[in-house]
Amino acid sequence: MPWCEECARYFTPTAMTADGKCPSCGRPIDDATGLSGDEETPWHFKLLNVALVAYLSWRIIVLFV
Ligand SMILES: [Zn+2]
Repeated sequence: MPWCEECARYFTPTAMTADGKCPSCGRPIDDATGLSGDEETPWHFKLLNVALVAYLSWRIIVLFV
């Protein structure tokens, strides 16, 4: 996640200015911390989502049967 050292806070990519600078102080934001797979969804999280959807679908089917 983009981190501004000047303001000591994180910003979402959409919260930054169009050229990737801090909306508060105008400094270029260090986005190096976002390289650790922040954008990618972990496979186990996807698996959890699939399991959750399957479980909820089952519960809904049970309701109507
Ligand atoms: Zn800042």
